[in-house]
Order: sequence, then C-alpha cells, then structure tokens
Amino acid sequence: MKALVLNRPNELALEDRPVPEPGVREVLVRVRAASICHTDFFTLRGEYPDCKYPTVLGHEFSGTVEACGPGADNVKPGDRVACMAYSFCGTCRNCRRGRHNGCANVCGIPFDMDGAYQEFTCVSAEMAYPFDESLSFAAASLAEPAANGCSAADRAEILPGDHVVVIGPGPIGLLALQAARLQQPGTLTMLGTRPERLAAARRLGADQAIHVRECDPREAVMDRTGGQGADAILLCTGAQEAWHLAGEIAAMYGRIIVEALPDAQDAAWPVRVFDFTARHIAYLGVSGYNATQFRAALDLVQDGRIDAASLITHRFPLEEYARAFETSDTRREGAIKVVFEM
Ligand SMILES: [Zn+2]
Ligand SMILES: [Zn+2]
Repeated sequence: MKALVLNRPNELALEDRPVPEPGVREVLVRVRAASICHTDFFTLRGEYPDCKYPTVLGHEFSGTVEACGPGADNVKPGDRVACMAYSFCGTCRNCRRGRHNGCANVCGIPFDMDGAYQEFTCVSAEMAYPFDESLSFAAASLAEPAANGCSAADRAEILPGDHVVVIGPGPIGLLALQAARLQQPGTLTMLGTRPERLAAARRLGADQAIHVRECDPREAVMDRTGGQGADAILLCTGAQEAWHLAGEIAAMYGRIIVEALPDAQDAAWPVRVFDFTARHIAYLGVSGYNATQFRAALDLVQDGRIDAASLITHRFPLEEYARAFETSDTRREGAIKVVFEM
C-alpha cells in the first residue's frame, strides 16, 4: 500500500509499505477520506518534542472496515466507520469517569500510532464508530474536529438564552459555533479576521460575524448583549490578542473556554486577577473529546444538524500531498478544510 511517511521534520515521502495486520481488539480500516488539520503542521515542522519519527499523520478520517482482529466485535468488515484520534484504556480513573481524553494510558495519532495518510490503517476497536450510507466519507472525516467543537461547547455549559461568542472562525471554531447553536443561545457571535470564514459563520447560524480589524469587537458584543457581555466565550484561536479580548467581553460569571493551542508551547499570558473574583470569570481549558462526544458529533454530522460537508473546500489524492498541505497552510483560494480522498 501507499503511505505518506514523515521520516523526520519537513521530510515527507510517499512510500510502499505492507498492509498492517489487525492485532487483538484492533480493526483494519481502508481509508477513504482524511482531512488535514492545523496541528499537522506542528508535527510536520518538528514543533512537538514528544513525536517519534518516522510517523504517519492524519487523525481526522473515515473509511471501511477491511478486517477485524480477535475480540474486535463492535464493527464488521464492510462497515463505514469514522474514527477517534486516540485510544483509551477504559479502566483508569479518568476513563472510569467518562473523561477518556484524560486517559492515563492514552495512545494518540501521530504520537503513539500511525494515522490515516495511507491506504490502510489499524485502529483500536473502540476508536471506530459506524455511520450510514447517507453520509459521505469526506464529511464523516470531519466528525473528529466536530467532536472537538462539541467538547468545547459542552465545557461552556451554555444555558438557553446565554450570550455566546466564538473567537476564531477556523474549522474547529465553525464546528463549535454549530454545537453552541444547538444549546439555544440568546445571541451567537463570531469574531475573526478572514471574510470568507466570517461569511461561513453567518451561513452556519451566527447572528453576527464581526471582522475585528474593521469594527470594534467590544462595542459589537456589548451592543448585541444589551451591555451584559458574553456568558460563554469559545476561544478557538491561539492568538494572544484573542485571549485578552475574551477577558474584556466576558459577562459577570462568564466562562472562557480555551480550546486552541497557542503557537508556542511555552506561551504564558497574563490575566487580570481582579476578573476572577470581582467579575467571577472562569477560564476553562479543554483538549479533545470523550467517546460520548465523538458519537454525538458523528450523529450530528450524519443528520445534518452540524454541517461539516460545506467546510470542505478542497480535495486531493494522496499523491498530491505537497499541494494539499500548501493549500491548507496558506489558506489559498479561501481554503477551510482540505481533504485527501482515496
Ligand atoms: Zn485535528
Ligand atoms: Zn484510561
């Protein structure tokens, strides 16, 4: 089979590899669609010190079950499946509490196992979730980022009528926006800088989508919320100015959900301590999603309540990986989601 191997930082090559054999409680998936994620570029450039090379990237994917190893009985050959980006043990303290993304024995793509930028990949059985024929493989590959969006919205504990602001209309921001909309917010605002992504936010249910360089986002949020500010802010960009902006537009008792990673792993940004007490502000970090959130996200993508398909702007075969990564990285031609189709 063909595999796009990252041998060391900045060294990708399409190589021939044997098709892997599924082990105990493993499933062999014939990859049909795999979507490029912003975090791929951290690994590509060697900015994740924990990553071991060689590795195969691709943690947002779908395909068909080719074979099941012993004890893998939750899916069967021929099933269409979307896959979580990590496996979990199910028995550690966090897993017992349903917090699989905090698993003490987590194995994630591409750090501990190979991903999906190849024709076949083996996953742990609990990572694979079946879906119906009515959903395309490409859209199903976005169940993974959609699960991140659902996880961020869940963390915000949005109440009906809450004023919600999403900062950063990247793919996760646009998916988190849709997850937040399902919680019946009173107002829903997107803040960002790219016109085509702000237009996507309007189309996907934002009441307003504000270009933060063209008008004052503080004024826009305060006007929209009757001077109250935002009850929940989903921070889906790693930009420092967004971090400060979130503190300024938060309502009393506001929750700021920090979903995006900053570009530098050691980034440390100040907060006004006064806000914690006098304004009861909570900063809540979130990373990944649990198994329940993944299943929910796949169902929402399947039934169209989260529109993932319209975020796909570009499709490439695996052979054109250089152009695919360049398109995603430079956001050429208004690129939002760039998907490999096999
Ligand atoms: Zn991702
Ligand atoms: Zn665990």
